[in-house]
Amino acid sequence: MDSFLDYEECIQDSPAFRLTLDKCQTDVAELQSRVEKVMKLCGKMVESGQAYNTANQHFLDGLAEFSTYHKRDSVIMNCMSQFIQGLQEMINFHTVLFDQTQRAITQQLSNLLTQFIPQLGETRKEFVRIGEDLETAAVKNAQIYRHKVTDAERASHLLLATRKCHQHFALDYCLQVNSSLYCLFQVFSYFHAQYTFFHQGFDLLRDLEPTMKSMAAQLSQLSTECTAKRKDLENTHLLIQQRDASGEPILSSCPDGGETIQGYLFKRSRRKNKTWKRCWFSIKDNQLVYTKSHKEEPVLLFDDLRLCAVKSLDSIDRRFSFELVSVKKCCALQADSEELKQAWISAVLGSIDMAYRERVESQQPQSPSDPQPGQPPQRPAALVVALQSPGNHRCCDCSEEEPRWASVNLGITMCIECSGIHRSLGVHLSKVRSLTLDSWDPEQLKLLCGLGNDVINGIYESRCAAEGRVKPSAGSPRPEKETWIKEKYVEKRFVKDANSPETRRQLYQAAFQGDLVTMASALAQGAEVNWSHAEEEGRTALIGSTFGGSLSACEFLLQNGANVNYRDQRGQGALHTAATWGHTG
Ligand SMILES: [Zn+2]
Repeated sequence: MDSFLDYEECIQDSPAFRLTLDKCQTDVAELQSRVEKVMKLCGKMVESGQAYNTANQHFLDGLAEFSTYHKRDSVIMNCMSQFIQGLQEMINFHTVLFDQTQRAITQQLSNLLTQFIPQLGETRKEFVRIGEDLETAAVKNAQIYRHKVTDAERASHLLLATRKCHQHFALDYCLQVNSSLYCLFQVFSYFHAQYTFFHQGFDLLRDLEPTMKSMAAQLSQLSTECTAKRKDLENTHLLIQQRDASGEPILSSCPDGGETIQGYLFKRSRRKNKTWKRCWFSIKDNQLVYTKSHKEEPVLLFDDLRLCAVKSLDSIDRRFSFELVSVKKCCALQADSEELKQAWISAVLGSIDMAYRERVESQQPQSPSDPQPGQPPQRPAALVVALQSPGNHRCCDCSEEEPRWASVNLGITMCIECSGIHRSLGVHLSKVRSLTLDSWDPEQLKLLCGLGNDVINGIYESRCAAEGRVKPSAGSPRPEKETWIKEKYVEKRFVKDANSPETRRQLYQAAFQGDLVTMASALAQGAEVNWSHAEEEGRTALIGSTFGGSLSACEFLLQNGANVNYRDQRGQGALHTAATWGHTG
């Protein structure tokens, strides 16, 4: 619409005004069709925008779900959550933009179409009618004869009034037509909405800038770590290659228990078809357990390996096989190599060996005869055996509960603090070892069972009451314990009949008989461990013990400083004697 109605021309109702008015009316008709087109296009655009927003929201939800994959990394998680919040805000901005577009263009222009333009039509009709009235009034006024003064005056007034009315109406009409330009303001408010949208978006992203930087730093760090990990993996590849080349068995041992091994073995089915299936086996707490696949629960194959026999299975075609036999069942297993097979057999034998030790210990009169069925299985074997003797469940020197240390040569258990004090005495007086961390030979454990805290205290604390000496307790300060332990083991202040010459013969005799208690008593009373018995061809107690055939007595003497190289009058040493008499353990 480029025509403007001039108000001066309008008042005069000149032909030029009439011409422009006609043009304007055509323009208004054209405007109507164009407005309709713009509204339609705008409607389509807003509709597509809303569809975009819906798709964007779905995408954002997907992104949020995806980012929880990184929930272990709190920095990345935090950044992602801020980005997602920002993008959510952008969707909200878009929603507002489309709402405003809808309002600015469609609603306002539709008002133009439904109200303003029809109203303009009505006004135009009225304008035409008043124009005709003016024409009629003018004609009437012109036709009045000059001598009809009254009529002429009335006609003049009517013409004047009608013209005034026409002029006012024409002005109003012009105003309305010109006002159709108002639709440009709708378009302008749309531009304003676009401006606000981009401005808000810019502010939002600028606020996110620090987060983007911190995420970039974190990602760069992750990338460095990934590279390092990849290098590690490459090194592992190398290690596997080297290992395969050297034939070293791939066998893992559990960190918490030294006795435990685990790895893959083939197990022969006990059904008729005798198929072999590869399963993951492990030995722990004297039990053999296997798992067919990671989806299945472990199966207990042998509930107590101490009651099983193990032997190499050379009678079948498959290599590296061995067999486990218990009272209830037998089972054939196959390892990948001879080394692995031997490792597994040794592990099973370890359990059987432990059973042997326990049986021997329980046969000794000093040991408790009940096999302690309720023993917690996770305890290390040495500890279980060591705590069986009377008094061994409390520290020998301060009575603290649950001792975890022992003196091999004295045959006692003790708490960690007293073990430190014992260590300070020197190994010639006390050989301290851990019951949970060190490995123990069966003969060493036998000393702990054959002697034990009650027996040793019976010897080393015999005169306590007479001396009026009170033993320290678990809560006593360390210096008090130190003094006590020195008086007890170094000075041997509370031992009965100390330094009697008879003790040497007693030691020899007890060693021959395998009587550990008398031997300990004799040593406490000052018997010289390497004294040679002139009446017994100059033999020492150690040689005597080999005559008697007691391995425990032998072990006890060796732990307490007996000289294995000493020879008797016939030139025979302990090893020679043992061999002669067939006591080779
Ligand atoms: Zn203690």
